[in-house]
Amino acid sequence: MSFTLAIVGRPNVGKSTLFNRLVGKKLALVDDQPGVTRDLREGPARLGDLRFTVIDTAGLEEATDESLQGRMRRLTERAVEMADVCLFMYDARTGIMPADEVFADILRKKNANVILAANKSEGKAADAGVIEGFNLGLGEPIRLSAEHGEGLGEMYDVLMPLS
Ligand code: GDP
Ligand code: MG
Repeated sequence: MSFTLAIVGRPNVGKSTLFNRLVGKKLALVDDQPGVTRDLREGPARLGDLRFTVIDTAGLEEATDESLQGRMRRLTERAVEMADVCLFMYDARTGIMPADEVFADILRKKNANVILAANKSEGKAADAGVIEGFNLGLGEPIRLSAEHGEGLGEMYDVLMPLS
């Protein structure tokens, strides 16, 4: 049995970087500009001997009438509905921002099965931000660095029972 994991969170936290790492191809666009990917992207993921489907939620689109927040909310809700489990990612270097609370709220309202991940947590500078994640009330954050490939072992341990 396989499962579907949706990576959700505000723009620029590193969702597409993790997606690319799990899929191993540049299916999702990663850019220094927050939120350049467009919609939901789905790909076959592998993590050790685990095989599953991963969904990357995008950020901003060019000019549309919809606000960034409205769009993120809509796409996140869609991703949550498609997924068995959501990896809610925040940026450990900035700590919890008001926008993160919005996503936490969506996940709670949708009763989503949530794995909390503190990304960009390489180095001591992220320590305080990692701890802030506990305040979301979504459990203990996994310390992740999508860019440097750290914390994937912890992620494996959490996902393994789902496979
Ligand atoms: P998304 O908008 O959530 O999809 O974020 P992206 O994956 O596009 O990443 C946004 C920026 O954060 C890019 O410049 C990435 O290189 C950077 N980034 C992603 N993961 C990490 C990480 O683990 N550590 C650090 N320091 N930067 C990261
Ligand atoms: Mg992205």
